[in-house]
Amino acid sequence: MYPSRFRYEAPRSLDEAISTLRDGGDYAKVLAGGQSLVPMMKLRFASPDLIVDINNVPGLDYHRAEPDGTLRIGALCRHADLERSGLLKTTQPTMASAAPLIADPIVRNRGTLVGSLCHADPQGDWASVVLALAPPISTNTSPCTINPITPNSNVATISGTGFFLNLFHAHANASLMSNACPCGGG
Ligand SMILES: Cc1cc2nc3c(=O)[nH]c(=O)nc-3n(C[C@H](O)[C@H](O)[C@H](O)COP(=O)(O)OP(=O)(O)OC[C@H]3O[C@@H](n4cnc5c(N)ncnc54)[C@H](O)[C@@H]3O)c2cc1C
Repeated sequence: MYPSRFRYEAPRSLDEAISTLRDGGDYAKVLAGGQSLVPMMKLRFASPDLIVDINNVPGLDYHRAEPDGTLRIGALCRHADLERSGLLKTTQPTMASAAPLIADPIVRNRGTLVGSLCHADPQGDWASVVLALAPPISTNTSPCTINPITPNSNVATISGTGFFLNLFHAHANASLMSNACPCGGG
């Protein structure tokens, strides 16, 4: 089956991505690794009017330890980045053990942890790990103002359990540009 018709935008900055998403409203979807969204669209389980491909947005592929003891993971940090991460092994060993178990190398090279959380598939490995570790998940309630490099301004923090509303249903109106997990909790 082919996906239904949609508009495709590939913004080159975070501001542009956020304003494009805001303009698209409820009918816009972020494309990160595309490993879940594209199959859903091909089956027409998802039929967004607008796809906002964030892969050209610079500066979202990070994962780093913050001075406050959290590990912050950007929206374009791939499963494979986490699988190979020395930082993850030392700061968050539970997540480090989970990373190589996700799918296969091809999926891990494209798929992202943030996309996996937003997808909220009950079979998704990261959601289970994140819920088990019970960190806060940081998301922007005001999408035009989030800054993933210094994400503490205009960022609301909701609990991991609060983030997942239902099967395939994560927190409404959330454009998640990073995820924060406690370091050393594994
Ligand atoms: C063959 C195959 C096997 C797989 N096996 C496993 C497995 O064993 N374990 C496992 O956990 N997963 C598995 N997956 C899923 C894979 O891990 C996906 O990469 C992941 O679920 C989604 O990440 P993504 O970056 O590809 O997201 P996408 O497919 O790009 O997006 C998924 C959803 O999240 C939304 N989204 C993505 N990023 C953002 C953002 N920054 N802000 C707001 N919304 C966002 C999208 O709009 C979409 O609704 C498999 C996938 C495939 C194709």
